[in-house]
Amino acid sequence: MKKMTVSTATLGFPRIGTRRELKFALESFWAGKSSLADLQTAAAGLRVAHWARQKALGADILPSNDFSLYDHVLDTSALIGAIPPRYDWSGETVGPDLYFAMARGSQTGHAHAGCAHAADATAMEMTKWFDTNYHFLVPELVASQSFRIASTKIFDEYEEAKALGYQTRPVLLGPVSYLMLAKGNAVEPLALLPALLDIYAEILARLAKRGADWVQIDEPCLVLDLAEDQRDAFQRAYARLATAGPRLMLTTYFGGLGDNLDLVAELPVHGLHLDLVLAPDQLEPVLARIQPHVLLSLGILDGRNIWRANLPDLYWRLKPLAAERDLILAPSCSLLHVPVDVALETGLDPEVGQWLSFAVQKVEELAALARALNEGEDAAFVAFSASRIAAVARRTSPKIHDPAVATRIAALDVDAGGRTAPFAVRRKAQRKRLGLPDYPTTTIGSFPQTPEVRKARAAHIRGEIDDAAYDRYLKAETKAAVRWQEEIGLDVLVHGEFERNDMVQYFGEQLAGFAFTRSGWVQSYGSRCVRPPILYGDVSRPVPMTVDWWRYAQGCTDKPMKGMLTGPVTILNWSFVRDDQPREASCRQIALAIRDEVQDLEAAGAAIVQIDEAALREGLPLRRSEWQSYLDWAVECFRIASSGVRDDTQIHTHMCYSEFNDIIRAIGAMDADVISIETARSRMELLEAFTTYEYPNEIGPGVYDIHSPRIPAEREMTDLLALAGKQLPPAQIWVNPDCGLKTRQWDEVRPALIAMVAAAHKMRIKG
Ligand code: GLN
Ligand code: ZN
Repeated sequence: MKKMTVSTATLGFPRIGTRRELKFALESFWAGKSSLADLQTAAAGLRVAHWARQKALGADILPSNDFSLYDHVLDTSALIGAIPPRYDWSGETVGPDLYFAMARGSQTGHAHAGCAHAADATAMEMTKWFDTNYHFLVPELVASQSFRIASTKIFDEYEEAKALGYQTRPVLLGPVSYLMLAKGNAVEPLALLPALLDIYAEILARLAKRGADWVQIDEPCLVLDLAEDQRDAFQRAYARLATAGPRLMLTTYFGGLGDNLDLVAELPVHGLHLDLVLAPDQLEPVLARIQPHVLLSLGILDGRNIWRANLPDLYWRLKPLAAERDLILAPSCSLLHVPVDVALETGLDPEVGQWLSFAVQKVEELAALARALNEGEDAAFVAFSASRIAAVARRTSPKIHDPAVATRIAALDVDAGGRTAPFAVRRKAQRKRLGLPDYPTTTIGSFPQTPEVRKARAAHIRGEIDDAAYDRYLKAETKAAVRWQEEIGLDVLVHGEFERNDMVQYFGEQLAGFAFTRSGWVQSYGSRCVRPPILYGDVSRPVPMTVDWWRYAQGCTDKPMKGMLTGPVTILNWSFVRDDQPREASCRQIALAIRDEVQDLEAAGAAIVQIDEAALREGLPLRRSEWQSYLDWAVECFRIASSGVRDDTQIHTHMCYSEFNDIIRAIGAMDADVISIETARSRMELLEAFTTYEYPNEIGPGVYDIHSPRIPAEREMTDLLALAGKQLPPAQIWVNPDCGLKTRQWDEVRPALIAMVAAAHKMRIKG
């Protein structure tokens, strides 16, 4: 019998660099402090280092073209020459000026010589890459769209690796997912498939000519609900591309194939990658359905989370299959979504540290597994023992399991999630207590995080100013902000959030069960990286988190001061979360901790508490069939957090987006007394969801687009309020900006809010 082999692949490595080298190289180039050559040298250095590292760690199949200076979807647009007309592109290839203009917009009045693009063009739209926190640049296609190869990046990087002695498997975003992610101007993107396939066939042929024997072709859209024409597109695409050049590893991730399995099984590709972390159950049906010659790549390590695997467990699971067919072992998806190396985390509690696995560790884990499957369990003895010990330690650690939390969850009354009285009753009580005018004015919470605020925070972290001095500084800022809000006549005030580094981290740092990394950066978009908190254990709140700040701020004014909290669903969705219990179980624990805080704020005298759920919508599962169960527990968690208060305490929530059609029922069920949302850009269009649903509670439709430095005039805001008044009874309307003001400057905020208050006054007079 032929001996089967197991090899390892990574699907993609973090681009940003161990110490965020790419970020600094990009930002220095953008600021004009270094040259294009400097940037290219830094980028090449990273690619070389990443190949060498992955090889040394034991990866057999190395990716190329997984690197990007900004985003791989933008790279694909450049590759196929899909350049939106507003960049006025007439060149042969996409140069760096055009590339970064598409990514970031181009500066006014900076049409330098040799630069073909228009002087003032907005950036392409950015949106989330499936349900991750990575953002890609949305392709824009027009009816007259033509395609041609306009970037040699994929070929160059293949050759670059080859010259270093690495035979790589280039990564290419598949044509159907590309079109499904695109937005068409007067054209249905999929209608462009035939033309696009000509170009893809040419790209593949060119790669084959250079020596590539396999290409990793990513089609993550195969895990979505597909319509008939989309299924058709996959059939047509792969019938054409299967013979165009190298063998294709059709790569799916972020979920299971589900009802697309029949479709996929018939595609004439040579290899198929499956996400067995988010969809472990799909292995069996796939094996039953797939052609025997198809090479399977099994995504067995979580490419989106940071937990160390239990290698012996995986070994026993995979052993029977490995005896039957050749296999590739891989992370579930590209390692783009995890930080680079746990070894840098010298500040972590070592016990927690040994439970973690970042990109580097994941490659090692894959290599150990493959070794054991190829040569016998003993070949990975050391790695397996360490892995088993860590797994047992994690399972049994008192750091994770807090019996008090378990007891509290078990005792959770099903009704803990409901306010005692219906909204109509609460509203009366709140009106009486607060005595607010019509069209009450407020802001979303944060005021500008000025360079001075950031500097003070950094100095405090470095120990250059002590706690007392830092506290004095923050209090002075807070007091000034409160005074100013009083002066301009806002009705409901905020303390400004100067003490907060980030709306999730600030709470995570004070809750039991969270850990923070020093270097655990993950690319969010372009040069922007985030360091998600690690939720590793049962969550509880040892002491109040915000009450002192609230009390201080309320002490500076007689106007109502909002208590300001981040909601449980948002804290969950922006963290690396436990994989040893369902997400909803972790969320309920956070919800209880927030509930405690809400009640403490109320006891301290707060008449209004705002619980932000900025990330509730983005947590929606990719498959519609799973939406309801997510929304059910997300809403329940919000209600747990918000319902422990009296009728006359007003609960606000804030969601900074403008798409509510899919979730309006859930929003209704959250039953916040007031919700503020983003509506300035869409000119109140999204309110339709609320009117159609007859949403009864109060709404603050944002009238000031805080994402732009533009200062809105009073008139613009009265116009917007008048539009809102066509859809909602005036008594239901609050007046506020779209979101928090932390990214703005005081020079912008001051006139804008003065005008906003004036706009509200006008509306009151008009009646
Ligand atoms: N209260 C937060 C702020 O004002 C809300 C931020 C957000 O929703 N993204 O900054
Ligand atoms: Zn917001």
